[in-house]
Formats: sequence, C-alpha cells, structure tokens
Amino acid sequence: MRAIQILETGGPDVLRFNEVADPIAKDGELLIRVEAAGVNFIDTYFREGRYPAALPYTLGQEAAGVVEALGSGVSGFAVGDRVAWCGVPGTYATLAVAPAARAIKIPDGVTTQQACAALLQGMTAHYLLHATFPVLAGETILIHAGAGGTGLLAIQLAKRLGAKVITTVSTDDKAALARGAGADEVVMYTREDLVERVKEITNGEGLPVVYDSVGKSTFESSLKCLKPRGMLVLFGGASGPVPPFDLIRLSTMGSLYVTRPTLKDYVATRADLESRAGDIFGLVAEGGLDVRVGHTYRLEDAAQAHRELEGRHTTGKLLLLP
Ligand code: NDP
Repeated sequence: MRAIQILETGGPDVLRFNEVADPIAKDGELLIRVEAAGVNFIDTYFREGRYPAALPYTLGQEAAGVVEALGSGVSGFAVGDRVAWCGVPGTYATLAVAPAARAIKIPDGVTTQQACAALLQGMTAHYLLHATFPVLAGETILIHAGAGGTGLLAIQLAKRLGAKVITTVSTDDKAALARGAGADEVVMYTREDLVERVKEITNGEGLPVVYDSVGKSTFESSLKCLKPRGMLVLFGGASGPVPPFDLIRLSTMGSLYVTRPTLKDYVATRADLESRAGDIFGLVAEGGLDVRVGHTYRLEDAAQAHRELEGRHTTGKLLLLP
C-alpha cells in the first residue's frame, strides 16, 4: 500500500510518500480501504515533533472508507460496511487498521467524505459546547478561528443551542463564511482590538466562555475577554503553544478558569463515542449541519495540505483522497 510517513520531524518537507507493507487486521480490528483521510491541525503537531511519536510514523488519525477484512473476535461489522474513525494513527494511507471499538458505521444520507470531514472536528465542537462548558441559550460566547474546519462546525452547533456567537477570522472571505455559518459578530483579529470589540458587544460585561484554538497569539486577549468566573477553554495552538503561566493571574483577573481539553477524553467510552458521532451524523443526514469540505488533495500531496493549513490559506475541512 502507499502511505505518507515521516522518518524525522520537521516542516512539511519531511513528509514521504512511501510504499509499505499492507497492514493486517488483528484481534478486534478492521482492515479498511481508505476513501478519505482528514487533515487536522494535530497532524502538524506530530509532524513537527510537538507531540512525540515513534519513527517511522504514518501520519493522520481520521479517515473513512470501506471495510475489507475483519480481525478475529469482531462483531457488529461486515466486509463492505462504510465506516469512519478517528484517534487512531496511520490514516494518511490507502489501507488502514482501526479497532472495531473505535469505528462508527456511516449512516445512509451521509457520504463517506462528509463522514470523514465531520467526525473529528464535529465531535470536538460537540464536546466543547455540550460538556467542557455547556452553553446555555442566550449566552454570548467567543469561538476563535470561525472559518476553520472546527470553527465552522462549532458556530453552527452553538447557534442551535441558542447562543449569540462572536468569532475571529483573518480575512474578508473568511468573515463571510463565518457569517454564513451563523456567527452574529465577526472580529478581524489581525486588524481590530479583540478585547475592545468584545467589551463593546457585551456592554463592558465580558464573556462567560472563550473557546480558543489559536493559542499563543490569542491566549492573553482571550483571558481579558472573560467576565469574572468565566472559563477559557484552550483547545489548540494553531499559532504555537502557550508559554508557562502563573496561576495567581487567574485570581487577579477575576477568579477565572482555564481548561485544556482533548477529544479522546470526551469519547473514551463506546457510549460517549456513539452518542457524539450519532448526534453529528444525524444532523448531517437531516441537513442541520453544513459540512464544508474546503479543499481536497491527492494522498501524495499531503505536504501541500499541511503548508496551506499552517499558512492560514484554508477554510473548512481538508481531505486527502487516496
Ligand atoms: P483550522 O481549519 O481551524 O485552521 C486553523 C486556523 O487557525 C487557521 O485557518 C487560522 O484562521 C487560525 N490561525 C490563527 N493564527 C494562526 C497561525 N499563526 N497559524 C495558523 N493558523 C492560525 O484547523 P482545525 O479545525 O484542524 O483545528 C483548529 C484548532 O483546533 C487547532 O488548534 C487544533 O489543534 C484544535 N483541535 C483541538 C482538538 C481537541 O480536542 N483539543 C480537536 C480538534 C482540533 P484565521 O486565518 O481566520 O486566523
């Protein structure tokens, strides 16, 4: 099979398009022909070594495709089923194995590409808004990077919950997309003072929650946008990791909370995984969640996908189509 691997960590140039041995489905696993592999920011963290991995390492941890073979002891799946999964490394490839316990059957009414595009980022938006800081109708909230893959889904889910959504973007085209997803206020954080704009919008009160995936460049202003006892949900670092932080500042800034959640802990049980994926796929099937596949690439062009994602040139979801 063909796969995108790294033999060393670094920039996009370290990605190699290699011929490697076909994987074999072991106990409890599915062998799946990959039809679409999701490109997520976390893949760049593994590529650059921010998150450690044993090398050589096949990048990617989200895909959808068709089951080709079942390992022993697998029940509930059959050869030919369309499935999607995430959180399992090795998906930038033509074939991949995944534990059956992590796979979700793709329901009718959801295409294989939609399933791949919605699973990881959709479940992320879902747990952030329903579990990390459950949003209530009428609350005003801030979701950063509103034209990104996760951002566009999070805005739509937050609007369904009845929130007033402020978002940030870097260009006019991205602003239009975020508004199309339902954002009430769009702040050009590259040109405007975010904290001032949030003060204006909230009549000086501040926000109960900020969902921040940008990290290094927004962390300080996100804290300043909160009202006393507000929560900063730091869920990514697209601009870089946040430097060490003196906890006493949470006290002096108004008894604030900061959490750094990650998807795997919110889909750790089969019940949680099925419930979040079921909600997301259900919404996609009924037309209640628009999944924007902004960019598709051949598998061998994964490095280009990384460059564009990190260069802030993308909107919505990026898919590799092996
Ligand atoms: P996006 O499609 O949102 O792309 C990242 C966006 O971040 C860019 O388009 C850009 O939007 C914005 N950005 C701001 N500053 C920078 C910068 N210096 N460099 C690059 N981008 C910047 O990516 P994803 O939806 O894949 O991921 C978004 C974030 O969510 C990532 O940080 C990721 O790690 C995190 N994440 C966390 C999960 C979790 O469970 N903790 C799960 C899934 C994703 P603009 O140009 O408008 O500023």
